[in-house]
Amino acid sequence: MRTKLAAVAMALMALTGVASAQTPPASARPKAAPSGKTEVTWWGHAAFIVRTPGGAVIAIDPWLQNPTAPKGAPWPEAVDAILITHGHFDHVGQSKELAKKTGAQVFGCYELISLLGVGDKGVGANVGGTFKVKDATIHFVEAVHSSSYAADEKSTPQYAGAPVGYVIQIENGPTLYHAGDTGLFSSMATIGEQFKPTVAMLPVGGHFTMHPADAAQAARLLKVQRLIPMHYGTFPLLTGSPEQLRGELKKVRGAAKVVELEIGKPTAL
Ligand SMILES: [Zn+2]
Repeated sequence: MRTKLAAVAMALMALTGVASAQTPPASARPKAAPSGKTEVTWWGHAAFIVRTPGGAVIAIDPWLQNPTAPKGAPWPEAVDAILITHGHFDHVGQSKELAKKTGAQVFGCYELISLLGVGDKGVGANVGGTFKVKDATIHFVEAVHSSSYAADEKSTPQYAGAPVGYVIQIENGPTLYHAGDTGLFSSMATIGEQFKPTVAMLPVGGHFTMHPADAAQAARLLKVQRLIPMHYGTFPLLTGSPEQLRGELKKVRGAAKVVELEIGKPTAL
């Protein structure tokens, strides 16, 4: 019985890559963000590159070829971790190519990582999972959305587990919350109480996610100081805007400040 269990555990670890997490070679290691700051670069849509004071480089939902991505900007050369919120194409983006190029570990829901084909670079987990990447602690948190994955346009999408959000606690830096694609949900209050995020990346485009009025409520539940609006303007359907978010925050007397990131420009937080 014991051997059987051990074999199952080994197979699971091999599948998710937990047992074989690797560090990229020294030559590929990223530089720390300058002057002890955490630096965030928005690539448009829900894609961000985060650089921590301790030298961790974390890519979130790296759809680096999205229609609003910085034209001609080189991809990050060294990445430690890629966090994927769910299996839709506009979030998986170029995760596989980026992982191959940089040797980064790829984090996501267990079912999604099993489908993705990133071998021992994959770390399949779920809500509640916590991982340390240099000076960053990454938590999988709830999101209210759907998740399926198709390897290409001709393939039938397959069930890809639960969608997730991520909280990233950075030593001597901010605590970031990237909500992924989600509607408004009351447990955002729990995320706020548990992790006390200081900066939240929230979708505001509507149609598939929260619109600005919901995002203003989310800010209240999270008790967060700064909001980075995302997931708007990429397609005509995503009509919400940072301007509308400011208006909605005023209506509910929300204290959070809207921080509009310029696409492609590293911003210290
Ligand atoms: Zn989605």
